[in-house]
Amino acid sequence: MVNEKMKALGETRSVIRELFEFGKILKRERGEENVFDFSLGNPSAPVPDCVNEAIENRLKDGNIHNYTSAQGDLSARAKIAEYHRNRTGIDISADNIYMTYGAASALSAVFLALNTGSCEYIAIAPFFPEYKVFTESAGGKLVAVKTKDDFSLDVDAVAAAVTEKTCCVILNSPNNPVGNVYSEKELKALAAALSIKRKQTGRTIYIVSDEPYREITYGKDVPDVMNIYDDTIICYSFSKTLSLAGERIGYVAVSPKADCTGEIYSAVCGAGRALGYVCAPSLFQRVVTDCLGKTADIAVYRRNRDLIYEIVTRCGFECVKPEGAFYLFIKCPIESGKFFEICKGEGVLVVPSESFGVNGYVRLAYCVPTDVIERSAPHFEIIAKKCGLMK
Ligand code: PLP
Repeated sequence: MVNEKMKALGETRSVIRELFEFGKILKRERGEENVFDFSLGNPSAPVPDCVNEAIENRLKDGNIHNYTSAQGDLSARAKIAEYHRNRTGIDISADNIYMTYGAASALSAVFLALNTGSCEYIAIAPFFPEYKVFTESAGGKLVAVKTKDDFSLDVDAVAAAVTEKTCCVILNSPNNPVGNVYSEKELKALAAALSIKRKQTGRTIYIVSDEPYREITYGKDVPDVMNIYDDTIICYSFSKTLSLAGERIGYVAVSPKADCTGEIYSAVCGAGRALGYVCAPSLFQRVVTDCLGKTADIAVYRRNRDLIYEIVTRCGFECVKPEGAFYLFIKCPIESGKFFEICKGEGVLVVPSESFGVNGYVRLAYCVPTDVIERSAPHFEIIAKKCGLMK
């Protein structure tokens, strides 16, 4: 006898991971050069030099591989707090920061911390598929609210979805899978609507701001949600910006202005304990805090974005030009299952949109080496011809 829910989760894996594994098999069968794997958001930009230097230096410290405090090494948390203070002007301290295994465990801990029993978590669809796994595993329910057709926030729809069970709204900007960045105007409208709902329901509705792509933008500013809405909890990760996805390092930042801020922070620490996190990777807590404000070469992703956007739009596909992150969300020109199979047949691996909470799109991760995009161009043309978009 096993936990059937967990067994099902383990057996199905995420669609994205499934495709990533399939891509490896296909590469063995067809040859590496004939497969264009746009499935996984695995950063291809090399880690910046500051990371390797920090690793070398930190390895000289005694006890660097020991346990740290459960909430994270004090000096690492203090440095992160200082970084936030300088950026936002908000008086955040080390006691607002909880170090995690990337954004995934930050989100899992926060969702568990917020669940007072049969909670509802509002996610803006299309959304990162694991939100459903994390919220349900925390014992709650994910309530999906679609964006407007142009993928901007539909504030009225979010407000209409709020009930007395709603504990938070999950925001992700720059966004996976669309690549848009919410404007200050959109965020202020959401903040105003949530404040009204709070008065009506008597319950604080937190914004959980999932920000693994914060620094990956192509010209548009990413507003600080904490400066717009007091009841904000940030889930940050160094996976994408420092190309450290496999090292598993990030943090939770609970706004000092949030309602019950101390209790929320304690509950996040308690959730981390209950989930068996013990402490975030010790060496990398120090390494990332030696590199705060630095990023991998994001210019690569801008070049990739421009190139892939030019290729797919020239072929007649419809998509929004991403403002950040490294994903392109393409509208299926024919029935989505057929479209997905045609792409797969051409060795172009993209992710169907159903697990993102919307139908009729595919997501393409363009954080691949640029030559993969260049070589994929003739294959997009064949796909476009097979779909009747090109002669
Ligand atoms: N949130 C979003 C929107 C993501 O796209 C990802 C990873 O792709 C995560 C969270 C999880 O990131 P991490 O590797 O930091 O756990």
